[in-house]
Amino acid sequence: MGFSITLPDGSKREFDQAITIGELAHGISTSLGKAALAGKVDGKLQPVDFELNQDAQVAIITDKDEEGLAVLRATVAFVFEAVAKKAYPELHFGEHAADDDGFFVDTDKENQIKISELPQLENAVKKAVKAGEKIESVILPKAELADRYQDDPFKLELLKEENEEVHAYKLGDFVDFGFEALLPNTGKIKQFKLLSVAGAYWQGQSSNPMLQRISGTAFFKKADLDADIKRREEIKERDHRTIGRDLDLFFVDPKVGAGLPYWMPKGATIRRVVERYIIDKEVADGYQHVYTPVLMNVDAYKTSGHWAHYRDDMFPPMDMGDGEMLELRPMNCPSHIQIYKHHIRSYRELPIRIAELGMMHRYEKSGALSGLQRVREMTLNDGHTFVTLDQVQEEFSKILKLIMEVYKDFDITDYYFRLSYRDPKNTEKYFANDEMWERSQSMLKKAMDDMGLDYVEAEGEAAFYGPKLDIQTKTALGADETMSTIQLDFMLPERFNLSYVGQDGEEHRPVMIHRGIVGTMERFIAYLIEIYKGAFPTWLAPVQVEVIPVNLDAHSEYAKKVRDELNKQGFRAEADLRNEKLGYKIRESQTQKVPYTLVLGDKEMEANNVNVRRYGTEEEVAKSFDEFLSEIKQDVKSYSRN
Ligand code: ATP
Ligand code: ZN
Repeated sequence: MGFSITLPDGSKREFDQAITIGELAHGISTSLGKAALAGKVDGKLQPVDFELNQDAQVAIITDKDEEGLAVLRATVAFVFEAVAKKAYPELHFGEHAADDDGFFVDTDKENQIKISELPQLENAVKKAVKAGEKIESVILPKAELADRYQDDPFKLELLKEENEEVHAYKLGDFVDFGFEALLPNTGKIKQFKLLSVAGAYWQGQSSNPMLQRISGTAFFKKADLDADIKRREEIKERDHRTIGRDLDLFFVDPKVGAGLPYWMPKGATIRRVVERYIIDKEVADGYQHVYTPVLMNVDAYKTSGHWAHYRDDMFPPMDMGDGEMLELRPMNCPSHIQIYKHHIRSYRELPIRIAELGMMHRYEKSGALSGLQRVREMTLNDGHTFVTLDQVQEEFSKILKLIMEVYKDFDITDYYFRLSYRDPKNTEKYFANDEMWERSQSMLKKAMDDMGLDYVEAEGEAAFYGPKLDIQTKTALGADETMSTIQLDFMLPERFNLSYVGQDGEEHRPVMIHRGIVGTMERFIAYLIEIYKGAFPTWLAPVQVEVIPVNLDAHSEYAKKVRDELNKQGFRAEADLRNEKLGYKIRESQTQKVPYTLVLGDKEMEANNVNVRRYGTEEEVAKSFDEFLSEIKQDVKSYSRN
């Protein structure tokens, strides 16, 4: 019954009798035997005592392999379950998993584990690690496990998906299944940490009961664990939901509408500054800003194709009872097309640039909603330009220049360009007009080259209706996000029968360009909160100046005068006239990340001076009020960063 094992380097080893992965590793070298954590057999992870008895491809997994981390993390999850079950015998377990981000174990809500109990549980895992207990890989009949999990509805449910023979693991009396490979001994666990307790729906579905998810992570080296914990803290520190709450910028309350954000005065101020800025920029660049309704007859979406292809993401239509069906718009394109169509257009007018801060609604899945980052009601910095095919390149460059100017003002520096073409081998998948595709794609490329910009080219990534350029930024969490986009569209002009009168007096079809500069206000401001960690540059800060009198009785009048003068000059200033200690007020101005704190006492009052403390510094600088005024004016005008 000989069989042969093929190793990753292609070499083969022949065997007459069954051998475990661990023995195979030892046979290759003593050091590999010691380092072996698990094996990969024909692509599937298996524990070291898994028996090989037929031809197979086998790779030995050590701490050098990525899978090694997954095995380690799954093992910690399993040992955690065992010790938690000992500490709370009533506890039930749901799903568990280990991946690049760590591991989690879902537990039931009735036997809640509090965040304050995590250190105890962590110690219990550490004890098990020290004791070096054996983790046994066993095959058990399904019926036996069903018996064991009688009172455990979640496990019973999970068991249904298993075969008659279930691969389980045992640690003392504790048994669980659903793991690929675990380490053979608790002593092999190195660095780990339990991180958080959060709610999670059973099997990820919001219609299911809510469970408790305990998350953690593990590494082989302490330095890696420390770096990961630091990275997590950094992310938490930047989380726009936390900062949004601490600075009172916005809230979302599922009780009054999931994914429907409320902008508090300070958040609304930031948004208003962004909106004014972007409108001014666009108007100066030749755009005509409009307002169009959020409701539209469903027929328009049938014409545009959204009804056929995008309906799952739309709110259900409103039946008005008189035959009219209205739809909350998920996009603004059909609305801007109405504006274009409202007049007969001549070639002399092109390019026509229509823009709007357009409110739209998308029925995002409840599990995907997140703060302002993903919402159901959003306002897009949208624009559509209508051009002749000859004008595509110039208009494209113009839009791109505008985008880059805007990025500079917001100090957005981490981004790259991605040009998306149609798939040349599959042209029938796209809107049929070869000339338009060929010419416009080469125009986009030429525009990028002429501007001396680097870009990634992605064949097959174009939309069905035309090529596009996406500008990808990185979120604080390190994820790629499309911030701006310029998309050519040959299809909608056709579907809505758009035309302009050419020089020849005949009707011609324009090309439509969809473009977004900063995306939706919601996602953009979530992004800004994260890149600035809530410390908005002066031009965007909701409160730019906090004026604090040293003594309420003596200096309140002067503080009010300074505040009023600043407000009159167009700055957002507040005076803190509460009956609190001076030190407390100064600290609070810092935690609220106000760019300028002015402390006013006798000396300042007598000389018409202000004592200025910049956000993030300890230094106080006395200067005349006029001097301060010109400083802050310059600061706002230059969009400078704190
Ligand atoms: P995603 O892939 O993130 O769902 P999308 O590709 O559907 O976005 P577009 O249709 O191109 O996005 O929408 C334009 C812009 O609207 C995006 O760049 C993004 O900034 C923003 N956006 C889209 N969906 C949401 C949402 N649910 N909440 C907030 N902003 C959104
Ligand atoms: Zn559009």
